[in-house]
Amino acid sequence: MSRSAHPAGPRHADVLPEGHYSAPPADLNALDSKVWAQTVSRNADGVVTVGGVDVKQLAEEFGTPAYVMDETDFRERARAWRTAFGTDADVFYAGKAFLSRAVVRWLNEEGLNLDVCSGGELATALSAGMPADRIAFHGNNKSTTEIRRAVEAGIGRIVLDSFQEIVRVAHIAQELGVRQRVQIRVTVGVEAHTHEFIATAHEDQKFGIPLAGGQAAEAVRRALQLDGLELIGIHSHIGSQIFDMSGFEVAAHRVVGLLKDIRDEHGVELPEIDLGGGLGIAYTSGDDPREPYEIAKALTEIVTRECETAELRTPRISVEPGRAIVGPTAFTLYEVGTIKPLDGLRTYVSVDGGMSDNIRTALYEAEYSVALVSRTSDAEPMLVRVVGKHCESGDIVVKDAFLPADLAPGDLIAVPATGAYCRSMASNYNHVLRPPVVAVGDGEARVIVRRETEEDLLRLDVG
Ligand SMILES: *Cc1c(COP(=O)(O)O)cnc(C)c1O
Repeated sequence: MSRSAHPAGPRHADVLPEGHYSAPPADLNALDSKVWAQTVSRNADGVVTVGGVDVKQLAEEFGTPAYVMDETDFRERARAWRTAFGTDADVFYAGKAFLSRAVVRWLNEEGLNLDVCSGGELATALSAGMPADRIAFHGNNKSTTEIRRAVEAGIGRIVLDSFQEIVRVAHIAQELGVRQRVQIRVTVGVEAHTHEFIATAHEDQKFGIPLAGGQAAEAVRRALQLDGLELIGIHSHIGSQIFDMSGFEVAAHRVVGLLKDIRDEHGVELPEIDLGGGLGIAYTSGDDPREPYEIAKALTEIVTRECETAELRTPRISVEPGRAIVGPTAFTLYEVGTIKPLDGLRTYVSVDGGMSDNIRTALYEAEYSVALVSRTSDAEPMLVRVVGKHCESGDIVVKDAFLPADLAPGDLIAVPATGAYCRSMASNYNHVLRPPVVAVGDGEARVIVRRETEEDLLRLDVG
C-alpha cells in the first residue's frame, strides 16, 4: 500500500489490521461522549439532539447529508486552548481543518489567532474581520500574488518554507516599503503519527527546510541579512493525529538547539518558537486524546527545560491546533438509502453522501464510528460497512462498525468527529453537491455554509 504523506491526516495508526474489527458495543444506542460533540444526547423519544435541536428536525429543514456543528462545543474547545496556554503563548487555529466566516468570527471572539495557507483562506479570514496581524501564512508554494496580498494586508507573520521564498518575501516587502515578520519552518527529522513517532529519515517530504546538513542555519543566515524581513522565530510541525508528546520533545530539543546556534553565531536570541499542531482527537472509543491543559503544560515544560539547559531566554510559544478544536464538534448526518446483506461477510449500508463529503477513510484508511440517530433500537447488532453513492468501490465512509439489524431505508445515521478535514476536503465527484454546514446552539440551527446547488455547478461550466 503506498500512501503519500499529508499533514491533514494520519497514515499509520488509523489502519486496522486486515480483517480486524472490534466486538459489538454493549449498547448500540449509547453515545460515547468521547467521540460526540458536547451537547449531543438522546431525547425521551430516543432521537438524537444537538444544541437542543433533534436530528429529524435538522434533516427535514436542511436535508441530508449535512455537517452539523455544535457551536457551544467549538467555542468551548477554542477557549480551553486559549486558557490553557495563557497570555504568554499564542494559539493559532489551523484554518485548513475547516474554515468559514462564522468560524472566523467565533475564533476572533474567543481570542484565537488564525493560520491560513492559501489566498482563499486569507480572503475568508479577512472578509470575516480577523485582524491581519493575528493571521499567519503557511504553505510550501505561496504564489507571489498571495504573498503580496498578505504583506499588503499587514499579515502578522509569513512562515518561510524554502530558500526561494526567503528572497521572494523579502523582495515584495521591500517593494512595499515594509519589514515583514517571518518565521522559518524547519524539518527536525521527526514525523509523528498518533501513538508513535519515528525520529529518522523523515526529512524526505516537501515541507520546511531541513535542520540536517546546516540548511536551516543557512536559511537563518540569509533571512537575517535581508532588510525586508524581521525574523521572529523558528517553526516546526511534526505531523497529525498525535497522542504521544515524545515527538514534540525531540522537535523542541532540536529547534532550541538551532536557537542556540543562532545566538552563538549571530548574537541574537529569536523571541518565538512555534511547535505546530497535530494533536489527536477520538474518532472511535479506542482513542484517548489529551486535554489542552495537559498539552500546554507538557509543551511549556519541554521548551522551558530545553532553554534552561541551552542558557537561552524562553521564547514565546505558539501552537496551531486544527483538528483538536473543530474535529469533535461536528457529525455528518446521512439518510440510509439501500441495505445489502452479503451472507457470511457483512451488510453494506449506503448513504446519500460518501467520499465526496468524507475522503479521509479512502485517503488514510481513517477509522470512524457510526450510530442510528433517528430512533433507538433493541435489535441485535449487525456488522456493517457504511458506503457512499459514488462510482468507486473505495467509496467507504465507515469501514467496520455495528448498527442494529432492523436498520431500514429512511433511517438517519450519523458519523461523529467529522468537523475537521471533511468539508474542507469535500469534492464534487460524480457532480454530487457538497453538503451544508449547519451550526446548532441554544435550541437554534442556522446554515453557515449552504448546500451546493446544481446552479452552482452549472455556473462554473460555461459550455
Ligand atoms: C495541518 C497543520 C496544522 C494543523 O494540524 P492539525 O492536525 O489539524 O492540528 C498546524 N500547522 C501546520 C503548519 C499545518 O500544516
